[in-house]
Amino acid sequence: KKRNAAEPEFIQAVTEVLESLEPVVEKRPDLVEAGVFERLVEPERQLMFRVPWVDDQGKVQVNRGFRVQFSSAIGPYKGGIRLHPSVYLGIIKFLGFEQVLKNSLTTLPMGGGKGGSDFDPKGKSDGEIMRFCQSFMTELYRHIGADTDVPAGDIGTGAREVGYMYGQYKRLANEFTGILTGKGLTYGGSLVRTEATGYGLCYFTDVMLKANGKSFEGQTVVVSGSGNVSIYAVEKAVEMGAKVVAMSDSNGYIHDPNGIDLACVKQLKEVERRRIKDYVDTHPGATYKEGSTGIWTIPCDIALPCATQNEIDKASAEILVKNGCYCVSEGANMPSTPEAIEVYLANGVLYGPAKAANAGGVATSGLEMSQNSARLSWTFEEVDQKLKNIMHNIFKNCDETAKAYGMEGNYMAGANIAGFLKVAEAMKAQGCV
Ligand code: NDP
Repeated sequence: KKRNAAEPEFIQAVTEVLESLEPVVEKRPDLVEAGVFERLVEPERQLMFRVPWVDDQGKVQVNRGFRVQFSSAIGPYKGGIRLHPSVYLGIIKFLGFEQVLKNSLTTLPMGGGKGGSDFDPKGKSDGEIMRFCQSFMTELYRHIGADTDVPAGDIGTGAREVGYMYGQYKRLANEFTGILTGKGLTYGGSLVRTEATGYGLCYFTDVMLKANGKSFEGQTVVVSGSGNVSIYAVEKAVEMGAKVVAMSDSNGYIHDPNGIDLACVKQLKEVERRRIKDYVDTHPGATYKEGSTGIWTIPCDIALPCATQNEIDKASAEILVKNGCYCVSEGANMPSTPEAIEVYLANGVLYGPAKAANAGGVATSGLEMSQNSARLSWTFEEVDQKLKNIMHNIFKNCDETAKAYGMEGNYMAGANIAGFLKVAEAMKAQGCV
């Protein structure tokens, strides 16, 4: 804690995992002896670099770039790139740490890493975005590779940004290889990658609900955010019979008791890059309120937080429970504070933790890597079926592990322990490195 005192999000993520691992410490003294715990919380490598670019006024701007290569115990480093003004080393380290265990849960051979910059894509022109992405990649390219480190999208990094970064990599390295995932379909991307995190979240939540005698059918659902994860979580939840009544962005939230018109949200967010409040212009039955956390005051059966870290605190969790919410499943990374999680567990809320519930994105990135290596592409149905199987297996693994450690129904403990064990065995087998 002392060594990372300036990184509260990293300490939060590590504390949650280490607390879950207490029963493993007792059962596996060999892992303690191999120093696995101490090594697991220290990234293998952390890169920080200058990202200079020229804005539309001809002025030089300087951002800070990051890549944390956390663990290569079970495969090449793998994890997204976040572009958001709140990015600093602590955010990237917490995301990288979570990624190590999440990637392990997918059953695919991927290590963990994360990157990003404090660059704010909001309000920037296409040209500015491109110049930033090119500059970012001009440094990053020497540290990544199809068998070394394969970045992807995250907050602020979508298809457009991945495209600009990929183009610059190709130019610098003079090779066409799968060094990024989330690529466009015309240059090596995989079908279903765009939908994967949101769809995967619903596949995971669906099996978790069914294992507890419930389902999405006829349920009222609140989904925070209106980005990549949120949009496809809404799409799949509706397909599974739910009614989604609210979505948000970092300014505020919309409530549409008739059910959100997703085609309108897609047009606003994916095509026109506008704000969620503009939804009410064409939907008079809906209301918009400022302040994104107010979304948790809307009564719902199932909450799917899909925006950002720590978006549900203790007070919001208590309101959710009071209003009858019985399931919280996480599309975003670490969206619930530790105090919120305590509220879920104390009230018997079915809780799908991020590193299990949102692993569908990186799992499909793993499938994109396989297709790139084999130089072929699978159909939508093939990838979707594989994603579904992976999410079902992740749930099974979390469920069985929780039971094996005497914590039935605690999928957070199950996810942390199951994700950890595979990485830990690999670290032990490879010696002190
Ligand atoms: P996007 O950039 O597409 O969308 C993010 C959404 O969350 C936007 O609606 C954004 O609003 C909102 N948001 C971002 N920051 C904040 C904030 N500080 N407060 C309130 N709202 C905020 O990102 P993604 O959908 O890709 O990512 C969302 C979450 O899911 C993140 O936690 C990410 O790490 C996680 N995730 C993403 C995966 C993926 O495949 N994309 C995979 C696994 C996890 P605004 O437009 O106002 O900024």
